[in-house]
Amino acid sequence: MATKGSIGVTTNNIFPVIKKFLYSDHEIFLRELVSNAVDATQKLKTLASAGEFNGSTDDLKVSISLDKEAGTLTVSDHGIGMTAEDVDKYINQIAFSGAEEFLNKYKDNANAIIGHFGLGFYSAFMVAKKVEIRTLSYQENAQAVSWTCDGSPEYEMTECDKAERGTDIIVYIDDDDKEFLEEGRISTLLTKYCRFLPVPIVFGKEKEWKDGKYVDTDKDKVINDVEPLWTRKPTDLKDEDYLKFYRAIQPAQEEPLFWIHLNVDFPFTLTGILYFPKIKNNLDIRKDRIQLYCNQVYVTDSVEGVVPDFLMLLQGVIDSPDIPLNVSRSYLQSDRNVKKISTYITKKVASRLEEIAKNAPQEFEKKWNDIKIFIEYGMLSDEKFCEQAMKFALVENTDGKFFKLDDYKTLISANQTDKDETLVYLYATDKEAQYTHIKAATEKGYDVLMMDGQLDVPFISMLEQKNEKSRFVRVDSDVIDNLIVKEHTREVELTQSEKDVATTVFQSQLPKLDKSNFMVTLAAMGTDEQPIVITQSEYMRRMKDMAQFQPGMSFYGELPDSYSLTLNTEHTLIKRVIEDAVKATEAELKPLDDDLNATNNVINALNDIKSKNEKDFTDDQKKDLEENRNKANELRDKKNAVISSYASGQDIVKQLIDIALLGNGLLKGEALNTFLKRSVSLLK
Ligand code: ADP
Repeated sequence: MATKGSIGVTTNNIFPVIKKFLYSDHEIFLRELVSNAVDATQKLKTLASAGEFNGSTDDLKVSISLDKEAGTLTVSDHGIGMTAEDVDKYINQIAFSGAEEFLNKYKDNANAIIGHFGLGFYSAFMVAKKVEIRTLSYQENAQAVSWTCDGSPEYEMTECDKAERGTDIIVYIDDDDKEFLEEGRISTLLTKYCRFLPVPIVFGKEKEWKDGKYVDTDKDKVINDVEPLWTRKPTDLKDEDYLKFYRAIQPAQEEPLFWIHLNVDFPFTLTGILYFPKIKNNLDIRKDRIQLYCNQVYVTDSVEGVVPDFLMLLQGVIDSPDIPLNVSRSYLQSDRNVKKISTYITKKVASRLEEIAKNAPQEFEKKWNDIKIFIEYGMLSDEKFCEQAMKFALVENTDGKFFKLDDYKTLISANQTDKDETLVYLYATDKEAQYTHIKAATEKGYDVLMMDGQLDVPFISMLEQKNEKSRFVRVDSDVIDNLIVKEHTREVELTQSEKDVATTVFQSQLPKLDKSNFMVTLAAMGTDEQPIVITQSEYMRRMKDMAQFQPGMSFYGELPDSYSLTLNTEHTLIKRVIEDAVKATEAELKPLDDDLNATNNVINALNDIKSKNEKDFTDDQKKDLEENRNKANELRDKKNAVISSYASGQDIVKQLIDIALLGNGLLKGEALNTFLKRSVSLLK
């Protein structure tokens, strides 16, 4: 007896709506149908284990088959099946109020519609002109029924012949969706969505090579792994199992560094395996390598919100029935359960790392440079993680030795605390270029850290904030005695005019270098130190470095590099240059100096009057001041010209400067060429 009826939705045009709005996600109909088949199979297993079903549960596979001629795709299972009443109840009555309103609201999110309102089965109508259900319930003496519907709200239900228990869903693929009759396409989709389902999913037969071509064998081709690694007990698994699974989900990737098996059932259920990949360069950084499953059904590979941002660089799978997958992303992010999951994952990752650092310190050190980027990123972006990571994060010194942060602090505290009780961490970013500075520091008994990682710049700032009374300085940011000031530095024993001569002699002979500024300064550094030390201020350099990370600071990035060129006034060569220069220019400078002194006296007197009573300062006096200022400037220019012209004939000055530049990798191009030529001619 055939029944005809109307599907119980409150709106008649639900199918056109489904078709239209769910357009972009057509392919998920397959996931929905296969999931239903799996559910029906699992239900039968549950009934069997409860003793409510006594038949055989041996061959509980789900099969997908294509019939190109008939234009059908069929999903068959041997699950619980449905009686006519069941079909009526579960398929016909999909009544819900405000269907249209809801569909309009979520028209861009097929998952939301499908999951929220149990439209899973009806998603078949996205690709079908007709759908037929043939089903036989597991119940004793059940009568098989057939249900067909052509996409209008009218359906037809009749009794039919079906020998095997279970359900066939026969989808008559419509003309616009012929791709779903292609074996290749279906095979790809099954791998994507069904690869780890808990019931064998069969699609065609295994093939073998025979008589020069591939032919089908009798063996079913099972496309899935019914017991994926994450569902198994960590204690039952070996490293090789994890590596094998990694290769399966991330082919063509190098071996992972570590993995973490997540397994929790309270206060939410979550399992999964996360791998730390080996990142060789920035191109490897992709944020879509964690797959989210819901009871082994693939859902998505965009896990924002569920996994904390810094762990998005990890790879692997997460499976949780507790993540509300079928709602919009903003909802997901504000969901309390999801937040808890994210916190849990962070905590678990941190304690696993702590465990490895403790139990296998050598392995941890060996891999540190590869995982450092994850850990620093985490410490910079997640306060809680940072707290835990402080216990296992490592720093490496220029000798390649690793230290935990606390241990390092203890190591340097005796020797590297300055007179203000500030602990000074010295670091280098380039072992080759900063070699002389590193050497100077280590010869003094200091330790120098290597800080050349992509995130070391902000990481250093963070460590300074966390550790009170501590400061990081790059070895080349000042002369060694000024990096860690332990007592008052010695005074430079020169008169002001000697200082002026010394400064001008060197300043005037600096080569013009692209995008670099130099300032000559003087310091009494001791007879054993270098004659000239070139340094770059920590502050300016850091501002420039930070500019890379913060778009608003690009102004700093544009500035030229500014260096200090410090003359060691106690070095014999520098001493000699200054003495010679003073002697040679004395006679010529004397009258200029006298004149300059007299002019300065006039200027000072006028300034005095001006500052005492601005109103009484006459126009004549104003003019006078102006003229004297100009005169003083001219005199200074003349003095400079005298000193410069003297200095220009002194190869030793140029040679000293160039050697210092060379030691800092700053002598290049034409300047380098001039230096080489001069060096050769000095040897003659
Ligand atoms: P959901 O799966 O979210 O409940 P569906 O529209 O996909 O929503 O399915 C509605 C109901 O129809 C299911 O809950 C189930 O009771 C029944 N059903 C669907 N497919 C099958 C099947 N292959 N075997 C048995 N029952 C099924």
